Amino acid sequence: MQNLRTPYYLIDKPALQRNLDTIDYIRKHSGAKVLLALKCFATWSVFDQMRPHMDGTTSSSLYEVKLGYQKFGGETHAYSVAFADHEIDEVVANCDKIIFNSIAQLKRFEAAAQGKSMGLRLNPGISCAGFDLADPARAYSRLGEGDPDRILSVMDQLDGVMIHNNCENNDFARFDDLLGQIEQTYGTILKRLKWVSLGGGISFTAQGYPLDAFCQRLRRFAQDYGVQVYLEPGEAAVRHSTTLEVSVLDVGFNGKHLAVVDSSTEAHMLDLLIYRETAPVGDGKGEHEYMICGKTCLAGDIFGEGRFSAPLKVGDRISIGDAAGYTMVKKNWFNGVHMPSIAIKEADGSVRVVREFSFDDYVNSLS
Ligand SMILES: *Cc1c(COP(=O)(O)O)cnc(C)c1O
Repeated sequence: MQNLRTPYYLIDKPALQRNLDTIDYIRKHSGAKVLLALKCFATWSVFDQMRPHMDGTTSSSLYEVKLGYQKFGGETHAYSVAFADHEIDEVVANCDKIIFNSIAQLKRFEAAAQGKSMGLRLNPGISCAGFDLADPARAYSRLGEGDPDRILSVMDQLDGVMIHNNCENNDFARFDDLLGQIEQTYGTILKRLKWVSLGGGISFTAQGYPLDAFCQRLRRFAQDYGVQVYLEPGEAAVRHSTTLEVSVLDVGFNGKHLAVVDSSTEAHMLDLLIYRETAPVGDGKGEHEYMICGKTCLAGDIFGEGRFSAPLKVGDRISIGDAAGYTMVKKNWFNGVHMPSIAIKEADGSVRVVREFSFDDYVNSLS
């Protein structure tokens, strides 16, 4: 592996399989169908591995719905905060179900969507989200309809609803409580539907998540309302499956030992900046502490701090953890930093590169 040029995202298939096995367990014991949220992870080179363990994909745009239809197959759900007139025919042609974000969008496009199962995004006004930026129930939220009477007025057009109001929620009791409140407010509506998608953001692949209680809760919900339940995991499907492999370009000391690497948070792991998180780096037990820094000119381009068993030197390789979700789909050409390749590690340890980027890709992203 040392001969692969850094930086590259490295998807570890056995690690990904652990999440897929959990998803299989949930499908089997809850009866829920599970769709991959492409906005989190859309690296289609591993779709062959994921396909047998998931029921399809869900999307947030025309391009995602097309990618899901062409590259993943199975059930393809189309959702968007707003579809444009010029997109709608292609969206409809590439989906099994279409979920509108507002009643106005439903009315605008219901004729164009005839023949497809139609749904509406329901915003219950309550959520589990640590950041206002990512809170679908924030004040003045545009994400979905909340008023039960307004929703009841379009019931005849609806087969289902999608509710996405969890974000990185690893607390089953909180999920259970939120779902209970939704049942109280929207029970009459739920009883008249064929399917309900409970969205993503449920951290069911986190260590120690009470899977059996979760499955029972989903099963009970499905039975009480006579609906097919869907889950739409992004992060939970790919957590801990991928690293960003980088090399040290420079080391220094400015009150802390630091190592500059051939990658960047802003360009390659943007959510670290947006959500003020740090990535796992180092082995956690060595006695040499380093701040791992990106190579853009952004002052706060820092991946995180970690412990290493030996002093770092130029040329050393470092793995940055948790690099699957919201990374490859968000990478960009900021500072013209070389875009990481994408590589896949098989169960036998062999690694193959499935995509490389070059100067030409940078040039062609602009004009
Ligand atoms: C973002 C999103 C998801 C996936 O969320 P994760 O937190 O990555 O599981 C699923 N459904 C909808 C509607 C979303 O907006």
